[in-house]
Amino acid sequence: MADDKTSMDRRGFLKRAATGAVAAAVPSSMHSQDHDHDHDHDHDHQVVPSDPALRTKALESLLVEKGLVDQAALDALIDTFEHKVGPRNGAKVVARAWIDPNYKARLLSDAASAIAEIGLGKSAVGDHTLVLENTPKIHNFVVCTLCSCYPWSVLGLPPMWYKSTAYRSRAVIDPRGVLREFGLQLDDDVEVRVWDSTAELRYFVLPERPPGSENMSESELAELVTRDAMVGVAKVSMPAGGAKA
Ligand code: FE
Repeated sequence: MADDKTSMDRRGFLKRAATGAVAAAVPSSMHSQDHDHDHDHDHDHQVVPSDPALRTKALESLLVEKGLVDQAALDALIDTFEHKVGPRNGAKVVARAWIDPNYKARLLSDAASAIAEIGLGKSAVGDHTLVLENTPKIHNFVVCTLCSCYPWSVLGLPPMWYKSTAYRSRAVIDPRGVLREFGLQLDDDVEVRVWDSTAELRYFVLPERPPGSENMSESELAELVTRDAMVGVAKVSMPAGGAKA
């Protein structure tokens, strides 16, 4: 049947094209589960990468081929975002501020220099980052109403909800309602301050240290700090069962 043959041919073509794209795009360490697919199994396979992934790979190949971008520069960028930036950096900053009042004072007055002290380098956040301290009576949280400005070096890439129109508009219209949807119910006597990031000024929330964490080490404290707490849509809480002995 001609239709079946056409269909099979198209599927075969897509599979071959996809195999080539995946082989080029996926690091060799991710091929550990390569195997013959002529058997029953209960795990999902995405045979054809998504259209954006294929388009990205095609564009990258073309730019490299034409000499418009350097493959080594691309690799360095990818390595940076995979291994060097992320919320673990911010968590280290928060934990240090919790245990060292002098560091905290420096962080609140000159965030870029204080963040550089933990080994991130001053250029990582630029000179225009402001750290906002949450207290029992003041709760800060951050939005970018215009687009999605975000302190990447300390928090990594922004989550999808941060970039959503709903968050960007509602955070300023109904901040307490938005926080409730994140599971954070604040007492009426807590002042909520919403900070609107811009391309020139990024904000980073210093959350409250949770009660019961007094005997924890700096690295144990850093483990508690979440991305959401540093955006200000959550508080830092102790692990279930309390601190480790
Ligand atoms: Fe923005």
